[in-house]
Amino acid sequence: MSEFSLIKHYFQHLTVPQSDVVRGIGDDAAVLEIAGDQQIVVCVDTIIAGQHFLLDTPAQAIGHRALAVNLSDIAAMGAVPRWFTLALTLPEENAAWLRDFSQGLAALAANYSVQLIGGDTTQGSLSITLQLIGTIKPHQAILRSGAKVGDKIYVTGSLGDAGLGLEICRANMHNLSPERAYLSRRYQYPQPRVEVGLQLPGIANSLIDISDGLAADLQHILEESQIGAKLYVEELPLSPALCQQVSMQQAQILALTAGDDYELCFTVPSALTDRIENIAQATSVKCTCIGEIVAENGLQIIGPAGEEIHLEKLGWELF
Ligand code: ADP
Ligand code: MG
Repeated sequence: MSEFSLIKHYFQHLTVPQSDVVRGIGDDAAVLEIAGDQQIVVCVDTIIAGQHFLLDTPAQAIGHRALAVNLSDIAAMGAVPRWFTLALTLPEENAAWLRDFSQGLAALAANYSVQLIGGDTTQGSLSITLQLIGTIKPHQAILRSGAKVGDKIYVTGSLGDAGLGLEICRANMHNLSPERAYLSRRYQYPQPRVEVGLQLPGIANSLIDISDGLAADLQHILEESQIGAKLYVEELPLSPALCQQVSMQQAQILALTAGDDYELCFTVPSALTDRIENIAQATSVKCTCIGEIVAENGLQIIGPAGEEIHLEKLGWELF
């Protein structure tokens, strides 16, 4: 199959055409219509076989991940995801792989009405670069730098699942118990919290998505906002599956340090925290208060007896 017929077969009709795409796939560049009172929000992520996903990852999960990680970044600005481009480097033409990959991509794209508007296709070791473009009204984008003393810190969903899910996928994917299957799915099919992100402009002062682990990603908010935080380990949202598989302490360490959950972490002035319960209900996504922003710089992690916990001392070697 020629490059062009491959594009035509797998990608030209991957997503539902949107009325704001004047010209999509098939010309030298795409042409997009945007309303006058909108700002453009752009992000891009490359995922490489063996580095960002395991070599035996199902193609469907790779397609899902390529879009999910970018949707999560757009969600972490409070923006609306709209269009994406796809630069694919493939080692060989493999029809079954391309079918599954494009299905994984198309299913997630359909959930958010985002359209594939162009890309590039080359030969080489497997790598996928996906660029996502979103829009937002002026002054609505939620930055990392906006946290204020007294803000409450929230996270969506549950934390640490993907960290253990990765270990499960590495070890053995056969005859998994329901809990282990759930955790491996949390790693392989992260669900970006776009709906929650869209509700946060005007409510959250700062926002980030958790790709590298809560402690590391919350630090980015603290550094950008030049502020500190107190975080209570007992408040961390842990899934029943995670608690069933590891000790409470291991679950808490995973929740603090493991990546790939793609949940959102945001800070809210205490006068607006009653709005969060409504958002959780409207989006069916749990939102948990795990701490507060304080004036003293740095992240303090507080244990069950009120003692400060030093992550370095807990060690990173869990398994
Ligand atoms: P050019 O040589 O002008 O860059 P290409 O021949 O690379 O154009 O691509 C032809 C068209 O197909 C362009 O509209 C391009 O955006 C699109 N395209 C190429 N690869 C992909 C892909 N993997 N997914 C979606 N669109 C693609
Ligand atoms: Mg090209």
